[in-house]
Amino acid sequence: MTSTKELLELDLRHVWHPFTQMSLWPGDEPLIIARGEGNWLVDSEGRRYLDAVSSLWCTVHGHNRRELNEAIEAQLHQVAHSTMLGLTHAPAIRLAAKLASLAPQPLTKVFYSDSGSTAVEVALKMAYQYQQLTGHPLRRRIGALTDAYHGDTLGSVSVGGMSLFHERFKDLVFPVARTTLTSVDQLFEAHGHELAAFVVEPLIQGAAGMLLQPMGWLKRVEALCKKHGVLLICDEVATGFGRTGTMFAVEQEEVSPDFLCVAKGLTGGYLPLAATLTTERVFDAFLGTAAEQKTFFHGHTYTGNPLACAAALANLALFESEQTLERMKPVQKMLTAGLDRIRTLSNVLEVRQRGFMVGIELKGYPPHARTGFQVCKAARADGVLLRPLGDVLVLMPPLSLTGDEARLLTGVVFDRISALARA
Ligand SMILES: *Cc1c(COP(=O)(O)O)cnc(C)c1O
Repeated sequence: MTSTKELLELDLRHVWHPFTQMSLWPGDEPLIIARGEGNWLVDSEGRRYLDAVSSLWCTVHGHNRRELNEAIEAQLHQVAHSTMLGLTHAPAIRLAAKLASLAPQPLTKVFYSDSGSTAVEVALKMAYQYQQLTGHPLRRRIGALTDAYHGDTLGSVSVGGMSLFHERFKDLVFPVARTTLTSVDQLFEAHGHELAAFVVEPLIQGAAGMLLQPMGWLKRVEALCKKHGVLLICDEVATGFGRTGTMFAVEQEEVSPDFLCVAKGLTGGYLPLAATLTTERVFDAFLGTAAEQKTFFHGHTYTGNPLACAAALANLALFESEQTLERMKPVQKMLTAGLDRIRTLSNVLEVRQRGFMVGIELKGYPPHARTGFQVCKAARADGVLLRPLGDVLVLMPPLSLTGDEARLLTGVVFDRISALARA
C-alpha cells in the first residue's frame, strides 16, 4: 500500500489539476479521496466528508449505490465498449428511448457524446448545419448570455461569456452576439435575422455564480426564437436530472427547446456520458443521399459507451423507484430554512437558490484574498466538502441528501461565514 504522503508526492510531481493554480495547490493540503458511501466521501486517512457539491455537480443518488454498481457490473460482463459508428447496442438504444420519454415533447432524437462541453458543441454544429441545409445560409451567428458558461472546448468557450475563463482565448474563438438578461429583446431585433441559434443555461447560470433568471424570462426567449426563426439550445448540463427540483429546468417554464444538452448527472455521477436531444424537424433536415453530403460529420470515439449507458439507465430507474423528485421536496425546504439564517449575516451579499442549486455570495472581501476558498477549507475541518466560485459559496448536494445532512450543511456554512465576520 502506498501511503498518503507518498501518493501526494507523486501527485505533486506528475498531476496537473483542472481549474487549479498549481503553485498554490501544494499549500492547500490536498485530500486524497479513497471511497464513497452515500452522500459521504472518505479520504485516505479515513476522515469522512459530506459531498456538498456532488463531486462537481454530478452525483445524484449518492456514491457507491448498489443499483448503479450492479448495472455497470452486469454490462461489464457483456461488453465494456463497442462503437456507435456503424454499430449499435441495447444500453444506448434503451437509454435514448428513456431520455426521449422524459424530455419535453418534440425532443425524440438523441446524439451521444462524453462531456457537457461536447454536448454543447454538438448542438451548436447541428444548429449551424441545420440552417445551411434548410435554405438559411446567412444564419451563421450564435446568440448567448453575458456570464454564460458552456464548457471548455473552443466551441463552447466561444459561446461562454466569463472573462476570467474566456478572455484569454478571444483570438481563437468565433464571434458571438452577446446579451444581458434585460437586453434580449434588442438582441433579437438587431441580430435575429442572422442568428442560427441562441444558447442558454435555463433558470440559473451555474458557473457564473448561480445567477437566477426571473420566472418568465426563458419563456420570453423561446417566443423570440420562434418569432425570428432562431433555434433554441438549452444547456441543462448542470440543471438536468432533478437539480432544480424538476427533472429538467425547462419544465418549470413549459419551454420546449430545439436542443437539450445533458451530461453531469446523466449517469448519476458515475461515468462520463452526455447527450444532445433534438427534434424530428432538425433530424429530418439532415436526411439525404450520400452524395448530398447532408450527414452530420461529428462523433467522439467513446460516444454512447455501454457501461455509461447502463449506469444512466439505472440512475433514471432510481428516480422512479425512489420517487426522488417527491422525496427531495421536504429536504429542499430545510435547505431554504437554513439559507434564510445565512442570508441575515452581515458579510453575505445575497443567497440564490433553485432547488438543490445554491450560491451564497460573500461581500466586503478583496477579489484575490480567496475568501470563498478559505471558508470552504474551514468547512472541511467540520466534515463538509465545498468548492467555491470566487467569493460565491456553492452548495449543490446530491438529491439523496437527508434532512439531517441539510441541517448539518447549512449549520456548518452559517458558523464558518459568521466566524469570518467576527475575525
Ligand atoms: C459543467 C458544465 C458544462 C461543461 O461540462 P463538462 O462535462 O465539464 O465538459 C457545460 N455547461 C454547463 C451549464 C455546465 O455547468
